[in-house]
Amino acid sequence: MRSILPFLVLFAGVLAPAAEATPEAKPIPYPLKTCIVSGEELGSMGKPVTVVREGREIAVCCKGCIKTFDKEPAKYLKKLPSTPAAKP
Ligand SMILES: [Zn+2]
Repeated sequence: MRSILPFLVLFAGVLAPAAEATPEAKPIPYPLKTCIVSGEELGSMGKPVTVVREGREIAVCCKGCIKTFDKEPAKYLKKLPSTPAAKP
């Protein structure tokens, strides 16, 4: 007669990590009140769109600006004040 206990233990071991969602690193909040691409005040063109790039939150006034941002992310990321990059 076989016990089902080992199977239950196995199941628990398999299911536990899946049930516990891995917390992603929290992105750095967007510090500006304006669209990083157009410079428009956020909310002036409707609901602002927020995306995460390079571990930073980026807010733009519309989806079109995300496309523009993604063409030259480095250019727009420079607009953000004091990137807390590790300095040697
Ligand atoms: Zn826009």
